[in-house]
Amino acid sequence: MSPLLERSRLCTVRWALLGICLLVALGGGLAEAVERGRAVRPLKRYQQTESHMGTYFTIILYAPSEEAARSAFRAAFARVAELDRILSDYNPDSELNRLCAQAGRGPVVVSEHLYRVLEESVRVARISGGAFDVTVRPVVRLWRRARRQKRFPDPNRLRAARKLVGYDKIVLYPEKRAVQLRQPGMQIDLGGIGKGYALDQAIEVLKNRGIESALVDGGGDIAVSAPPPGRAGWIIAVPMPASTEPTYLVLAHTAVATSGDAERFVVLNGVRYSHIVDPRTGIAVKGPRQVSVVHSRAMTADALATALSVFGPQDALAFARKHDLAAQVVAEQDGRYAVLRSPAFDRLLCRSRRVLQRLQRSTER
Ligand code: AMP
Ligand code: MG
Repeated sequence: MSPLLERSRLCTVRWALLGICLLVALGGGLAEAVERGRAVRPLKRYQQTESHMGTYFTIILYAPSEEAARSAFRAAFARVAELDRILSDYNPDSELNRLCAQAGRGPVVVSEHLYRVLEESVRVARISGGAFDVTVRPVVRLWRRARRQKRFPDPNRLRAARKLVGYDKIVLYPEKRAVQLRQPGMQIDLGGIGKGYALDQAIEVLKNRGIESALVDGGGDIAVSAPPPGRAGWIIAVPMPASTEPTYLVLAHTAVATSGDAERFVVLNGVRYSHIVDPRTGIAVKGPRQVSVVHSRAMTADALATALSVFGPQDALAFARKHDLAAQVVAEQDGRYAVLRSPAFDRLLCRSRRVLQRLQRSTER
């Protein structure tokens, strides 16, 4: 299957998840905006969807007029498209791929966006002990082929690819905003973090245009700013396997990212291998597993959700507790799903019986 086809299959699944998320992103209708005790123009809810980064992005926002909403949508989606041109590994002309072409040579001055994403990639690689590592791309490629051909990657190729992996081979020069990839042939894959950064940036662009209350959904990963007017928070459905109880969170000024192998996996010798790879062993992550992380930055939530998918469920939870991180792990145990949550994640659960009943009624319809 071509990467593009694979992506479109992913879109279908994520689109289904998105439907659930939007269904429960409550807060429609008119609301009064109050500024310094004085009523100003009522804010109205607007929503728009576009296809970007191989998935669907949906923005819900509250604006005083259709004109204001339209120009805010345009600016936010333009930023996401700009970031796709910078961060994509599919587009041969992306800034990322131009940087990779310089691997083994001297430092390259990069855009602020690319620098920030690489800087955070290295930080998360360090704190996760290399479970998250954007230099894993040569190995990811072999596993992509393994999924298409339904057989294990060739051991010689895997060995060669693993020699190119290691976040310590990325050298950052903050003063010059430059990056050096030390080893020839190194390749970077921002698939585990780039979408999160795009969500942060979309929220930022909206804020700069005076849009305080917004939700940006990129294929099931969601960033929110202030709650809808008059509400305590955005109510978000976390993507879950179909047979498990839905999880609803109440969120404001934060983001939630979910990593999982709901669609992209291969079964070899009776074992299920995910599209996420353990960079330390070169072997794809085993078993159905889904990890959601809430963090004030969507970029960090995205990277950590990928990192925790590499850990086993218990280690993921221990990491979350140690770092006071809001994380949920759904793992299969003896044919049944077990849902594990860190205390910080538990605190974000929607507990309002009235809201939960309303959500249940709306999903049953
Ligand atoms: P996500 O859906 O955010 O978990 O990202 C998954 C994508 O990140 C994969 O499709 C790969 O492109 C890339 N990836 C896979 N394993 C890792 C890893 N251990 N660290 C960083 N990126 C990874
Ligand atoms: Mg991720």
